[in-house]
Amino acid sequence: MIAKNISDRVELNNGVLMPWIGLGVWAMDNGKEVVESVKYALNIGYRSIDTASLYANEKGVGIGLKESCIKREDLFITSKVWNSEQGYKSTLKAFDRSLKKINTDYLDLYLIHWPVEGKYKETWKALEKLYEEKLIRAIGVSNFMIDHLEDLFTTANVVPAVNQIEFHPYLTHKELVKYCEKHLIQVEAYSPIMQGKIGNVKEIVELGKKYNKSPAQIVLRWDMQNEIIAIPKSSNPIRIKENSEIFDFELTDSEMNLINSIDINSKFGDPENS
Ligand code: NDP
Repeated sequence: MIAKNISDRVELNNGVLMPWIGLGVWAMDNGKEVVESVKYALNIGYRSIDTASLYANEKGVGIGLKESCIKREDLFITSKVWNSEQGYKSTLKAFDRSLKKINTDYLDLYLIHWPVEGKYKETWKALEKLYEEKLIRAIGVSNFMIDHLEDLFTTANVVPAVNQIEFHPYLTHKELVKYCEKHLIQVEAYSPIMQGKIGNVKEIVELGKKYNKSPAQIVLRWDMQNEIIAIPKSSNPIRIKENSEIFDFELTDSEMNLINSIDINSKFGDPENS
C-alpha cells in the first residue's frame, strides 16, 4: 500500500506498524542540533527517528523525544548495535546503554548495523532474546546482502523485520530487494537523497520541474511508490519539512521505470568490505 500521508505506516512481518518516512540523525551533534531537529520533525508530523550507538547522539535524541511531549506509544524509535559491540553478551550490554541514553523502556526497532563476519549470528541471538523479552518491538539488520541473510537463516529463529540498506537512484539493489520481498523483510533506504547529492541526477531534476518539487521530494516520492521506507537526514527545518511534503503528487509508471533504470551501482558505504 502506498503511503498517503506522513502518518501512514507499513505493517512489518510481525504486525508492528512502522512509519514510511522517518528522520535520520547521522552526523548530528548530541546537543542542540539533534534535540531541535527531532523536536521540529515531531512537531510537523514525523513519528520515526533513526539513530545508532555509532552516531553518539542517542542522548540528544532522547531529550528531543521527551521535550516533544508526544506519547511514547505514538513514536517509532530505531537504534543499532555497532560493530565493536557485537557478540551475544556485549550486544545485550550495548542495548542497555542505548535504552538508558535514549531514556526509554523499549525500542521499536533495533538493527545489527553491519554484518561483522563471525559475529552477526551471535549478535542476532541477543536481539532475539531482547525481542522475546519484549524490550524491542521488531528486530532487523542493516547492510546485509543476500549471502549474509542466507547465512543468518541457518541459525535464526526470527526472520528480520527490516533490512536497512543504502538505496537511491544510483544504487537500487534489485536482486536484494526482490529477495527481501520474498522473505517478507521490509527494505528501508538510508542515504535516500544520496547524502544531499540528488540534485546531480538530471532525470530527477527534470521531474522536479514537471511537478514543481525539489529533487529530494521526487526521490522520496519514488521510494514511497516503490514501497521502500525512507529516513532522510536534515537538521535544517526548511528541508525537514520539504522532505515530508511528498504526498500530494504521483509519479507515472514510466517515470518510476525511468528512475528505476538509472542505477550505476554507485555507493557511499561498502558493507562487503567493512
Ligand atoms: P541523506 O541521503 O539523508 O542526505 C543527507 C544530506 O542531505 C545532508 O547533508 C542534508 O543536509 C542534505 N539534505 C537533506 N534534505 C535535503 C533536501 N531536501 N535537499 C537537499 N539536501 C538535503 O544521507 P544520510 O547518509 O544521512 O542517510 C539518512 C539516514 O540514514 C542517516 O541520517 C542515518 O540515520 C541512516 N544511515 C544509516 C546507515 C547504515 O549503515 N545503516 C548509513 C548511513 C546513513 P542538511 O542537514 O543541511 O539539510
